[in-house]
Amino acid sequence: VRYLILSDIHSNLAALDACLRHAAGAYDRTLCVGDLVGYGPDPNGVVDWVRQSGALTIRGNHDRACSGSLDLQWFNDYAQTVALWTRGALTPGNIDFLRALPEGPVQVDGFLVAHGSPADEDEYVLSPLEADRAFAVGGHLTSIGHTHLQGGYLRKGASVETIQVTAEPEGRTEFPLAADALYLINPGAVGQPRDHDPRAAYAVYDNEERLVTFCRVSYDIVSVQRRMAAAGLPQPLVRRLGNGC
Ligand code: ZN
Repeated sequence: VRYLILSDIHSNLAALDACLRHAAGAYDRTLCVGDLVGYGPDPNGVVDWVRQSGALTIRGNHDRACSGSLDLQWFNDYAQTVALWTRGALTPGNIDFLRALPEGPVQVDGFLVAHGSPADEDEYVLSPLEADRAFAVGGHLTSIGHTHLQGGYLRKGASVETIQVTAEPEGRTEFPLAADALYLINPGAVGQPRDHDPRAAYAVYDNEERLVTFCRVSYDIVSVQRRMAAAGLPQPLVRRLGNGC
């Protein structure tokens, strides 16, 4: 089975559409690793798509904040502003859908799906040390998100390494999995990358070939930035979309 793995879509429907076009025909099932909403201008467009796609979906911290089930004190001012705007924009049905999303980690076909660390959904895995703690909880493979950084970590014996994805010009990097290693795989963010590459990010995992393909896709970022500005969303968030960090 080939899994399309989407994380941190963050209300960016143009980036989601670009990923779906780029991945067309290359996957059988879809997984959404949390943070469907927050930051971008299209919360209902993204949630409507996820609801009709039948994707296995877990919640992220922004899904909880934007549907009123996480206190906004945990967010910085810009994220709070967007969370309140998103709450006002979402339809009641979409708010109910976000509130009902399951907490990760969730088991899928022999691997785990978690928004943050499999040890704690809100914990960022940003270093080999933090990855080491996560490996103690996860299995052979855990798909994570939350940091908006494509790649992840691998553990072989006692050593933990960062997975470096080189941004190929055509936007596809194949990464075969070894049977004797453990993996935390981060597909990167569809809707707000932070690894200095503003292109939308996603991954495909083929569990028969044991192959992860990391992908990057260009889309019309300027039109999304215009719509964010028109909606009155904070300027630093508009700028960050173009910088990819
Ligand atoms: Zn996020």
